[in-house]
Amino acid sequence: MVLAEFDLIRRYFAIHAPQHPFNQLGIGDDCALLNVPADCQLAVTTDTMVENVHFFADADPESLGHKLLAVNLSDLAAMGAEPFAVTLALTLPKVNESWLQAFSKGFMALARQHGVDLIGGDTTSGPLTLTVQAMGVVPRGRALLRSGANVGDSIYVSGQLGNAGLGLKIKQGYVCNTPDQALNAFDRPQPRIAEGLALRGIASACVDISDGLAADLGHILERSNVGACLQWDSLPLSAEVLDYVEQSGDWRMPLTAGDDYELCFAVPADFVGQLPIGSRCVGVIETELGLRIERAGRLETLEAKGYEHFS
Ligand code: ADP
Ligand code: MG
Repeated sequence: MVLAEFDLIRRYFAIHAPQHPFNQLGIGDDCALLNVPADCQLAVTTDTMVENVHFFADADPESLGHKLLAVNLSDLAAMGAEPFAVTLALTLPKVNESWLQAFSKGFMALARQHGVDLIGGDTTSGPLTLTVQAMGVVPRGRALLRSGANVGDSIYVSGQLGNAGLGLKIKQGYVCNTPDQALNAFDRPQPRIAEGLALRGIASACVDISDGLAADLGHILERSNVGACLQWDSLPLSAEVLDYVEQSGDWRMPLTAGDDYELCFAVPADFVGQLPIGSRCVGVIETELGLRIERAGRLETLEAKGYEHFS
């Protein structure tokens, strides 16, 4: 027998009562009820993943559950917000219990890892479409915006660049002898929540890298009305990504491929000493608008453009 809508929600998503103290009422009524401390601001974001646009039809559902939540938590990380609640809107072509079981497992495991409750959602039939809304808190006035970068600030990134882009190339047929790190980066990005929290009061601007460093740093530059110059030799690249660049000549890949979900942030000189470990300085904010990179003794211009759905 096909599982009815409410049984499906109960079995796979209403697994436990809310744990976080801000979440007074979770799944089961017409709305969830949240109590947010008065000295905090609520940070809210939503992201949708559509079959054949954001993921392949045969994508592993457990990874998909993880990634759907991770990309939303990544936006909260980029604001320096602490996540506590999410809603989930599922549009499913049919009820496939083994798919739902695996999807829910990946989603719930990451939620638990970050102390986040699933407090509601919607379940409908139609072409496979997955939407999360994530909510976090940040002390009033302390969110990390895109608009605060100043000339002379250093530009940093957390983690490495281009691993997820390489993972996608491997899925499309590129042969790499040690593919695990790249595939894992593509399938199971880790939202940089702790790093985002540690950057409050230190970073002057921050963004998460969903569309590639060039495009996402481009957002900081545009909102802050500044430019930037990157140093190729400073980019944190894995041996596999370096191999790919050497073999293909496609040196822009680590800067333009999406899905890394690392943080990119600007730091004034006075605060550089207080940075969390594991981040790398890749360039500097300049007066001259636009984005440049110094590579092999040449100054190259980078298009600050990411994936655009309607172009
Ligand atoms: P309504 O019709 O009042 O909008 P629904 O019948 O859609 O409510 O949902 C019943 C309850 O289950 C609500 O609390 C809703 O938030 C929750 N819910 C529905 N779908 C999901 C889902 N995919 N994940 C989590 N909670 C869900
Ligand atoms: Mg209702």
